[in-house]
Amino acid sequence: MSNPVIVVHYHELWLKGGNRKFFLGKLFTALRQSLGGVPVERIEQPGDRFVVRLGEGASVEEAIRRVQRVLGVAYYAVAHPVERDMETLCRAAWDEVSPLRFANFAVRAKRSDKSFPHPVTEIESTVGRHLLEQLRAQGRDVRVQLKNPELTCHIEVTPGPLLVYARKIPGPGGLPANTAGRLACLLSGGYDSAVAAYHMMKRGAHLSFIHFYGTGAEPGESSLHVASGLVRALVPYQFRAKLYRVPFEAIQRNIVQFAPEGVRILLYRRMMLRIAEVLAGRDHALALVTGDSLGQVASQTLRNLVAVDAAARMPVFRPLIGADKMDIIETARKIGTYDISSEPFHDCCPVFMPRTPELSARPAELAEAETKLDINSLIQLGLRGTTIERFSYAEGRVEATEPKPLVRADQQHTAMA
Ligand code: ATP
Ligand code: MG
Repeated sequence: MSNPVIVVHYHELWLKGGNRKFFLGKLFTALRQSLGGVPVERIEQPGDRFVVRLGEGASVEEAIRRVQRVLGVAYYAVAHPVERDMETLCRAAWDEVSPLRFANFAVRAKRSDKSFPHPVTEIESTVGRHLLEQLRAQGRDVRVQLKNPELTCHIEVTPGPLLVYARKIPGPGGLPANTAGRLACLLSGGYDSAVAAYHMMKRGAHLSFIHFYGTGAEPGESSLHVASGLVRALVPYQFRAKLYRVPFEAIQRNIVQFAPEGVRILLYRRMMLRIAEVLAGRDHALALVTGDSLGQVASQTLRNLVAVDAAARMPVFRPLIGADKMDIIETARKIGTYDISSEPFHDCCPVFMPRTPELSARPAELAEAETKLDINSLIQLGLRGTTIERFSYAEGRVEATEPKPLVRADQQHTAMA
């Protein structure tokens, strides 16, 4: 019989209004790009779903792995193509349903090809009756229930073979990639910021990543490879991404030398936001994203977060602000960033950690603490050392370019910010 088919469903929620075409176009592109390298005969759109007809030699497992990362997919199913004949259809429906456990069920048919001689109601009742007979013959206590059935056996009548499926597998949900504008994410090597990035991608945002690193790490300990690894894990959700790598140690030393010890970490964060804003502007991003979660560490008390934010002109989004660490970790495992964030690395901040960090800073206090710093020079210092690594995802593989300096050596003297 024909090659397997994957039926992909999306939520209708985001399709209200005039944006339907735009969103569906983006979802279609994302599906096609994600399946790059997997033989696909064609992708059809017979109504409120996509039907992906795999080509000769396609691996269903690989196709599923790809579809699982397509944002906007609410659920999907591997459908069995069957001959256009009621008897074969009944047998195929039974093969699909018999291994599953359920107390009640319904058969739902959709007919986008009107040349099939049997109307929907007839298909549903004939297949339903057949399934019920088989189930009863096996002594299974099962009823037909048309409203909210535990199991639905779906039948699709599209041109070509009929499709049967009963096992719907949840996709990532969310909105299709690259539909909501641009953001810049401050990406450390920890669990939180990568998960925060994922949450925003899932709402359709396209993210650039900014990582601040310390020097003096032992070989293999640098946080840079962890940040790169995280972007590699995240880029399949949005297809392209930039990682800005900003050297931070000289800036930290300056803060350590000229500012009160208790607010050091908060001043590091303020400098990170300021530099991130310049880089975000370069990419036309309208806001920043961080992985802060209320009260998780000393720098993330409510007052400290607010005092840090006062240094930023752009909005700072914190999608994990109300999330528990357990939930964050669970998402990290699901999206494949957990193992990367678990690697030991040289985190730039704790190196010059204060003995007793301030827990309740005020914006004015931080501004006062910064008076001996030359903020603009520090921003320039960070930008001058910044390198960009570009990532792209195609044919199931992530490629990265060699990191290139943001500012060319011959332009180093011209002001940027
Ligand atoms: P994470 O697990 O994301 O590192 P965390 O709980 O360790 O978060 P902090 O280290 O206090 O929290 O950092 C808070 C947020 O500040 C991070 O989520 C990230 O957005 C940003 N941040 C911290 N350090 C860096 C860094 N070296 N480079 C870029 N962003 C950073
Ligand atoms: Mg951290």
